[in-house]
Amino acid sequence: MRYFPLFADLEARRVVVIGGGVEAARKIRLLRKTGARILVVAPRAETEIVEAAASGALELVNRPFDPEDLDGAALLVVSDDGSQPVDPILAASRATGIPINVIDSPASSTVIVPGIVDRDPILVAIGSGGAAPVLVRRLREKIESLLPSRLGALARFAGRFRSAVSASISEGEGRRLFWENFFDGPIADRVLAGDDTGASEAMLRAINDDRRAERIGSVALIGAGPGDPDLLTVKALRMMQDADVVVHDALLGEGILDCVRRDADRIDVGKRKGKHSVKQDEINEILLEHARAGRRVVRLKGGDPFVFGRGGEELAYLRRHGIAVEIVPGVTAALGAAASCAIPLTDRRHASSVTFITGHGKDGALDIEPALLAEGRNTIVVYMGVSVAGGIAERAIAAGRAASTPVAVIERATQPDQRVLRGTLAGLGSLVEEQAVRGPALLVIGEVTAAANAFPFPLSRPAPDLVPERLAV
Ligand code: SAH
Repeated sequence: MRYFPLFADLEARRVVVIGGGVEAARKIRLLRKTGARILVVAPRAETEIVEAAASGALELVNRPFDPEDLDGAALLVVSDDGSQPVDPILAASRATGIPINVIDSPASSTVIVPGIVDRDPILVAIGSGGAAPVLVRRLREKIESLLPSRLGALARFAGRFRSAVSASISEGEGRRLFWENFFDGPIADRVLAGDDTGASEAMLRAINDDRRAERIGSVALIGAGPGDPDLLTVKALRMMQDADVVVHDALLGEGILDCVRRDADRIDVGKRKGKHSVKQDEINEILLEHARAGRRVVRLKGGDPFVFGRGGEELAYLRRHGIAVEIVPGVTAALGAAASCAIPLTDRRHASSVTFITGHGKDGALDIEPALLAEGRNTIVVYMGVSVAGGIAERAIAAGRAASTPVAVIERATQPDQRVLRGTLAGLGSLVEEQAVRGPALLVIGEVTAAANAFPFPLSRPAPDLVPERLAV
């Protein structure tokens, strides 16, 4: 290990920055967060630096370097902006023993600045010893997406209760266990969700009776998207990796459940149409029971939990029973399907609104306002509409929508075996029947579907019909 990692306390210490260009400005931005007293020595300086000096945030001298600038300095940062030769500066400063960082030149530096992920007071530093800065940036992005944005708040929260915990649990091992339970448990989840008040109350209860920390469970209602695991949100993925129990639907795409923490219990409450499924009341009870047992429960639903997902009912039930609930939105099927076959749902040339409707109302009956179906500049997306496709088309036409209106049927959108069918409103019922659409599928009605790609294509690749040789293959 060539470099020894250290974090420098620069609060109220003198830091000298040579150079006033863009690179220097970037480093100064970081240095200012530390509370250092910054002296910038630069014949010319970026406006940002000049303004910072004018506001008193740093001192700027518009002249070349003078060895006396280093008096009492804790760190020297050199940026070669071409305004003064740096070699003599380095020669003069090496003898002083002050740590020197030359931006973009590890060979001339005695200390180098790592890539950082900043969740103050948590700081992750990544270095490659100057060997691969681009790799460092990649890693930084990865870690950035893994760490909750409120991680710093969590660390501060723990800091706030540190002495109270120590006072209440004198024995070291017990204290360590308490904190482990805390960071793995629902109170930390609440802090991360931004519920500082709820978390503080729960924390006080837990400190007064430390076994309680384990007993307060939580439920996250998570939208798993339309099928493609790449469409999970970063937050969904993170919570799926932390779950103790996952209660999931049948609709989930292949690969989604692979993203759940391996040790988590899985409970399939899938509601496959017409087949045995767990009733909503029972699902509510399952969620409650596991949360009450102190577990972190993830309720994983296809698409978005609040779009025809009965998430609202689960939320109300759990709240009524005092369980903390967090809601994580997902890409609803309509949006996944539209993206995957290039249907611009509200293309302003053809549509000024989009309506999501269900083919199965509360009691299984079709429950749609005729006016919604009639409006020509409205794109209609029908969920759960396969078995009633013909009936919906008839109603729309009876309400005044043109029989020639283009339609698309998208089956298993964003999944490897996605299928897209196109036709007209008048032929919608027979299209679904003749092509034996089984679902899950969406019906999309409106002029915007005329542009739909006949060939479904993976979201990140060019459409096959734009690449004829691929079709030939
Ligand atoms: N909460 C979900 C919808 C659940 S209702 C969401 O926001 O997407 C179930 C209906 O969603 C299915 O009958 C079907 O119409 C639609 N659906 C879900 N996933 C789908 C997919 N991958 N492709 C097409 N339709 C889908």
